[in-house]
Amino acid sequence: MVGERRNAAGGAATPALADPIAPLTALKGVGHARAAKLARLGLRSVRDLLLLLPARLVVWPEPEPIRSARGRKGERVTVRGQVTRTVLQRIGGRRSIVRATLSDGTGELDLVFFNQPWMKEQLAGATDLEVHGQLVDVKGPALGAPRIGTEERPLPAPGTLMPEYGAGEGVSAEALAGLVELALETFGPGLDEILPEEFLAEADAPSVGEAVLAIHRPTSVPAYERGRRRFALEPLLTLQARVHARRRGLRGRARAVRLADARFDELVGRFPYTLTGAQRKVSAQIRADLEGTRPMRRLLQGDVGSGKTAVAALTSMIVCEGGGQVAVMAPTEVLASQHAYGLAPLLESHGLRTALLTGALPPGERRAVQEAAAEGRVDVVFGTHALFSEGVRFRRLDCAIIDEQHRFGVAQRDRLAAKGGDVHVLLMTATPIPRTLALTVYGDLDVSSLDEAPPGRGEITTRWARGNDRRAMPRFLLERLEAGEQIYWVVPRIGATEASEERAGGASAESRHADLVARPTFRAAGVELVHGKLAPDERASRLDRFRRGEIGVLVATTVVEVGVDVANATVMVVEDAHRLGLSQLHQLRGRVGRGAKPSWCFLLGDKKAEERLRLLERTRDGFELAEEDLRQRGMGDLLGLRQSGVNLEGLVDPERDLHLMLEARDLFQERPDLAAHYARAATETERV
Ligand code: ADP
Ligand code: MG
Repeated sequence: MVGERRNAAGGAATPALADPIAPLTALKGVGHARAAKLARLGLRSVRDLLLLLPARLVVWPEPEPIRSARGRKGERVTVRGQVTRTVLQRIGGRRSIVRATLSDGTGELDLVFFNQPWMKEQLAGATDLEVHGQLVDVKGPALGAPRIGTEERPLPAPGTLMPEYGAGEGVSAEALAGLVELALETFGPGLDEILPEEFLAEADAPSVGEAVLAIHRPTSVPAYERGRRRFALEPLLTLQARVHARRRGLRGRARAVRLADARFDELVGRFPYTLTGAQRKVSAQIRADLEGTRPMRRLLQGDVGSGKTAVAALTSMIVCEGGGQVAVMAPTEVLASQHAYGLAPLLESHGLRTALLTGALPPGERRAVQEAAAEGRVDVVFGTHALFSEGVRFRRLDCAIIDEQHRFGVAQRDRLAAKGGDVHVLLMTATPIPRTLALTVYGDLDVSSLDEAPPGRGEITTRWARGNDRRAMPRFLLERLEAGEQIYWVVPRIGATEASEERAGGASAESRHADLVARPTFRAAGVELVHGKLAPDERASRLDRFRRGEIGVLVATTVVEVGVDVANATVMVVEDAHRLGLSQLHQLRGRVGRGAKPSWCFLLGDKKAEERLRLLERTRDGFELAEEDLRQRGMGDLLGLRQSGVNLEGLVDPERDLHLMLEARDLFQERPDLAAHYARAATETERV
């Protein structure tokens, strides 16, 4: 068997191809009842059938001795022999079982048929019967309802390639194969190809018509794979069409800000530290973007702690020099207020007015901030997506900065792009994006990297703590507390309400907090709890006390994952680390090691996450971790594409297809009609 692949949503995932769109009832023998069953598999037209990708390709097996076949439970086998015994068993009502015993001298095997009493007569006394089926267990090894070779319909020759389709309720794989064949016989493979020949040649893919034949009537394994490749192009093209649409959305004119070198240097000089070389390089790129009227669309990627926030601050300063306003958007309220707290002093010392706007603000305050934004009485507004909700207006919004942008998802980004075609946008992310994806999914963006950490960072030692390590941990933590350092203690679950987990004996943030408070040594250092269900100002005030050093241990859910910045915190403990993904663990670890002192990260977790936890012990390289995360979780999932209707599973090797994606970009440049066609297909898929 080759080419395992999940069925692409019953063929409906290929909406971009044309006729024949005859309903299934146009096929002989398909009535309304049958059509309704097929519709449940996403098959509505003849075209859907022709485009139904096989679940796998079966290479028809040689007949084999029954003795060896008997041992291959679950597999499909072909055997031949003589029928030595037949038994019909009535099991109530019209139900029955026929058992026929096949023997070939090496052994015996039962063939079992449910509710087909006539099979007893039909098989009795057969001297040379060839059958093919799946080895099941019905009181011992047996072939369940095997296919029987007859004179007019012999079994295929060994080595024959047979596509096998994903069966559904009331529709067997065999029935689907028959229907596909019938569709081919009736209508031929005649689907219109809409892609130009040169593009297909470049992609090493056949036209749709050829591809339909190649997958349903394969002549060789490579021919089959080549046929499938034509269909794998579809999501890729859809993706590029979206990128294309986003770029076209950039027709607007943004406000240009020109700054004298001396003034720029002066702004840089305001920072309490010297910018790293990488920060300078990136700032220069952004400054150049802002000098033009073409709206900036820049993605800034930099590992946790690489100093993206400083770049955001400098960007804000430049924009405000030109008299415009800046919106800084973060995915969570914690992070938004962190930005506001962290940057306000710097910006305000520079004469800029800042404000925080989140959904959690009391209505009165919220209104006040909204009015200030609308009247231009505030220069930099920090917030969550509430910033772009209805009712929030700016007097002159010139730039939007979006932190941890990958958490917003592609669809949201599309919406934002649609909203502010005349605004400069800086996107920031701590999840490094492999080059291929940067060019494809983010093909509408210019990319900058902060590839140098600020100086004076202490080492971080990461330990997957088990056994003795784990037992030694409390004492070690107390030593750190005595040295005046602080500790994050992350437990993914909040409370004891998740009963099943409680039975499994795992801790929750609440129970861990209670446990630490009950120990006098820890209690003396100050233990506090934060999680997403706290009232926002309560949470903010607890975080604030931790920031000021009044609390030694902060027990938290993953709300501290992004952005929280306390240089004096040197220890991160993560319980139930197996419940979290690589990127998330890497982000959590990034909360420590922010000062000059050495730091530690203790991961407590199941052996089932061994691979992940060992990798974290070994490396802090965000790119390496991102590539690995990509490998483990799959491309579509990582980028939040799946929920926006783009399925990249067919692209097994994105590196190989990089070139092709670039070709697709060029193609759409020349053929906006095709781009529009695929973009339409994308929105159709999304609605489903
Ligand atoms: P990121 O957002 O990329 O995770 P931050 O911008 O929060 O990183 O920076 C992490 C820490 O490093 C902050 O405490 C910040 O003040 C500090 N920092 C940033 N740039 C520099 C620099 N050039 N020199 C020294 N410290 C810096
Ligand atoms: Mg940050």
